[in-house]
Amino acid sequence: MKVDEILAALTAMFPDAHCELNHRNPFELAVAVVLSAQTTDVSVNKVTPRLFEKYPTPQALAEAPLEDIEDCIRRIGLYHNKAKSIQGLARGVVEQFGGVMPQTMEELTSLPGVGRKSANVIMSVCFGMPAIAVDTHVERVSKRLGLAAPKDTVLEVEKKLMRKLPKAEWSHAHHLFIFFGRYFCKAKNPQCPDCPFTSFCREYKAQQKQAEKLAAKKAAPVKAKA
Ligand code: SF4
Repeated sequence: MKVDEILAALTAMFPDAHCELNHRNPFELAVAVVLSAQTTDVSVNKVTPRLFEKYPTPQALAEAPLEDIEDCIRRIGLYHNKAKSIQGLARGVVEQFGGVMPQTMEELTSLPGVGRKSANVIMSVCFGMPAIAVDTHVERVSKRLGLAAPKDTVLEVEKKLMRKLPKAEWSHAHHLFIFFGRYFCKAKNPQCPDCPFTSFCREYKAQQKQAEKLAAKKAAPVKAKA
């Protein structure tokens, strides 16, 4: 299946694929992305309304008492470290960029707690730039569909996707892959019987091989004991 056929199939499955972290501006998205490490977007969306209401600007969050930030985000895991991270991010935005979120990869990744993946999300979702953020879902799906090699690093996956997908589709494809990985091709128990990609999916082929081996083992005659 060609890349554009994969994208068309995914678009038919998830016509509303979009960023699921609630935010009203680039700074709020940056904070939400940092908070989303090792937790779900749904959990993050439960704590950010109160946090953003109390501290609506980088300046306000930069000056907030740390315990108060912790209190706002207590319901998600790792809240001690995450409170420090988002305050560090806010201080970076204030001190390095006068309180205005920057827009380039170089500037964004110079902020504390913002890596390449987060920068790509912000550039694509908030500033409409073509970018592919490779998170755990994008990585898994890309490897299963053969768009990247099993041992590729996250950066290698990103580079391969940028080479193989039309630039105009990068941001959309990123959301499609996330939705597909989050709701259909999950890490455990993917919905293979209903998937349009079984004919070339590596994971599916591996599962089939395993099932055939097991069946052959079961069918083999049991040797009588001497
Ligand atoms: Fe994912 Fe299964 Fe589809 Fe492969 S066949 S892409 S593992 S759902």
